[in-house]
Amino acid sequence: MRAGATRTTCPYCGVGCGLIIEREAGGGISVRGDPAHPANLGRICSKGAALAETIGSEGRLTRPLVDGRAVSWDEALDRVAEGFRRVIDRRGPGAVAFYVSGQLLTEDYYVANKLMKGFIGSANIDTNSRLCMSSSVVGHKRAFGSDTVPGCYQDLEQADLVVLTGSNTAWCHPVLFQRIQAARKARPQMRLVVIDPRATATSDGADLHLPLRSGSDSLLFNGLLSWLARHGHVDRRFVERHTTGHAEAVRLAQWQAPSAAVVADQCGLQTEQVEQFFRWFGACEKTVTVYSQGINQSTSGSDKVNAIVNCHLLSGRIGRAGMGPFSVTGQPNAMGGREVGALANQLAAHMGFDSDEDIDRVRRFWQAPALARKPGLNAVELFRAVERGEIGALWIMATNPAVSLPDNSQVRRALERCELVVVSDCVETDTTRFADILLPVKAWGEKDGTVTNSERRISRQRPFLPPPAEARADWWILSRFAQRLGFSGFDYRSPREIFDEHAALSGFENGGTRDFDIGALQGIGEDEYDALQPFQWPFAAGGVSCQRLFAEGGFFTADRRAQFVAVTPRPPATAPEGDYPFTLNTGRVRDHWHTMTRTGLSPKLTAHTAEPYAELHVLDAQRLGIADADLVRIESRWGGVVVRARCGTRQQPGALFVPMHWNDRFASNACIGSVVNPCVDPFSGQPEFKHTPVRVSRVEPAWYGFLLSRDPIDNLPQGYWCRSWRKDVWYYELAGDAPLQDPSAYARALLGARAANPAAWCEFLDSSGAHYRAARFDDGRLGASLFISSTNDLPGRDWLVRLFAQSELLPEQRLRVLAGAPGKGAEDVGRVICSCFSVGVNTLMAAIRSRKLSTPEQIGEALQAGTNCGSCIPELRALIAEAS
Ligand code: SF4
Repeated sequence: MRAGATRTTCPYCGVGCGLIIEREAGGGISVRGDPAHPANLGRICSKGAALAETIGSEGRLTRPLVDGRAVSWDEALDRVAEGFRRVIDRRGPGAVAFYVSGQLLTEDYYVANKLMKGFIGSANIDTNSRLCMSSSVVGHKRAFGSDTVPGCYQDLEQADLVVLTGSNTAWCHPVLFQRIQAARKARPQMRLVVIDPRATATSDGADLHLPLRSGSDSLLFNGLLSWLARHGHVDRRFVERHTTGHAEAVRLAQWQAPSAAVVADQCGLQTEQVEQFFRWFGACEKTVTVYSQGINQSTSGSDKVNAIVNCHLLSGRIGRAGMGPFSVTGQPNAMGGREVGALANQLAAHMGFDSDEDIDRVRRFWQAPALARKPGLNAVELFRAVERGEIGALWIMATNPAVSLPDNSQVRRALERCELVVVSDCVETDTTRFADILLPVKAWGEKDGTVTNSERRISRQRPFLPPPAEARADWWILSRFAQRLGFSGFDYRSPREIFDEHAALSGFENGGTRDFDIGALQGIGEDEYDALQPFQWPFAAGGVSCQRLFAEGGFFTADRRAQFVAVTPRPPATAPEGDYPFTLNTGRVRDHWHTMTRTGLSPKLTAHTAEPYAELHVLDAQRLGIADADLVRIESRWGGVVVRARCGTRQQPGALFVPMHWNDRFASNACIGSVVNPCVDPFSGQPEFKHTPVRVSRVEPAWYGFLLSRDPIDNLPQGYWCRSWRKDVWYYELAGDAPLQDPSAYARALLGARAANPAAWCEFLDSSGAHYRAARFDDGRLGASLFISSTNDLPGRDWLVRLFAQSELLPEQRLRVLAGAPGKGAEDVGRVICSCFSVGVNTLMAAIRSRKLSTPEQIGEALQAGTNCGSCIPELRALIAEAS
């Protein structure tokens, strides 16, 4: 590590990889995995590897704005305080709310929660982690009496069987998947089972894939519980000493799922597949079951979690090396939010509203004048209350609910009607345009504090860049706001002081009665905080950091026993039928994150999936007259989007998958949240993002086109468009509803004055009028290029993108642009698969076939693909299989 390098943590997923940031000679930075960080041991994925491309100033908010007018911090905070005070005085503390985010650092989260619950006196603070893992929180608390992840990442390597359920780990938690794959390579007897209705990069490499019917997870795990009980895989000692309720849970499971055949029938699986899974689970003591949003994002998500946990309790496989149920979180600090109580139904430090003792303890610790005594509104309820006018002042921090919440048209209506909307963020988003007061905050490379990953490991995020202009830390903004409301206890001068208080509260009157205890860190000094090494909680004063919990019981229920939860499987809230015969599933793609506010800035990342899409089964596509790459409209009762069709066999017939990321800044109409059913789990309040009844139909535009331009295009026409940033060039896909009478005039209108110079402008229209191409040359360089066709038969784009990197185009190349085809030797590499080395699918397929490459390692030797972060390796394997 070079002098001046910074050790910090990745801002994306819940793996929480440690990174080393080094300054480059040209002023940029380099990012690599930290070999000393226990979460990743030097590994990194494509998103982490491209972080250097996302730290620029584009779109950054740099000054506080009130009604669009730049003001000082004093004026902005006075206005926020006046607005909140006005609403509180008139209508009480229940009429104000914070909506916060797993992107906040723990210190920011702590101050927000303390202020709202302890001093304003309302529990109306909820986090966007509600959308991601609140069902796991409920499942954990019901079973363990605490929101505890019992294991650690090493368990995934030490297991003999890893079950990944509701988790496309290869794309969503790539470094964990890399660790599993490396362990399987070292120990070929280790098995991987993937349970997912769709085929994914994760299931491609599995020993067994169970493509179960959407929403039938509880039945499958009830079937497993019943099978384990019948076949003698019960750890009687553990069950008798450390649990309660097992008889009822097993009895119910046996009644509902008496045999593998019944389970297979109900889950849409083959009996042999189900038996195989049950046998493997039964035989492997060292079994870890990893679950994620595919389990949580359901109206029965909490029950699904308990159905999984029940199996581990019955077999006593918890808290020991290589075994346990394992929830992995989506966001970098979802766990930190849980620790400070940023869910509306939690108090701080894993204490709860269901205990008068907890309420009193937190009140005394904070010397809080008005501690809330009951839970507040969860995310979906909150925005409904805003629309009804029950919330008069709402402060949104570091999140984009106008895109990410289900039925987001409702969210937008609510924001438009709200008396006072304050948004603090580092960049402009779809939500910031609703803000009456907009507050600029520090971004990832500027922040200073801690985050907690999925294995309870707290790591430092350290700053390595100065913040731009007036951007401030969230905790600083919140503290100054609290002081303006007249509250004491918010005179923090550094994140270290907040962390110290957080640690003290965790240990306050704890004595081993609560799982979250980092009392050992109480009293931490500035130097110690700066140098803090990643550690797992609990870490009580006088104790040691704890890697695993519950091997010998010690649960946090009243009787210290784990509680089996008897689960009755429930189908999704609404079934596909009539006008809406398909099931919509949403999720992540490999190289994008949330609503693309950061990854959308990276040319490397956008090259992998440049356009929003709907994946559907080829049989459905044929029936509906949809061809691959057609535009399709997806509609539900709540809204509709238009995206590109991908037809294949990765989805089950009747199912659709659409990525969650696209927003109004990157596409004309692709916010899939507008389509998603806002029904929620009754226990966790988590929405059902994985199961919305929809219909799908082919869109028939009058023309298709694409545009490449060095300058962004602001006057995009009516119809379909999506855009992405490639190196040196903006890339737009276009389609129009009305025929173009004069494509040349259209091109000139689109490119404006930039197309006015006839010496720099070339165009071509074929005799049928069906194909139009135009190019503009700026000082010999390609400046813009527009292709239009009456049919969807446009040429490849990647060879044209590469021409923008050249300082001058030869006459032959200019002709090639208008001919719409690369010349000899100017290969079209196709869609990028390896983001690190920009290796496209055409290059890969040609090399696999011509050089008979049969392993990712051979591809790596030939083309470098897959040799840096390794995120593309599952796709390389799929291409090898396709070519063979
Ligand atoms: Fe970041 Fe990738 Fe690690 Fe997740 S797996 S924390 S996105 S580097």
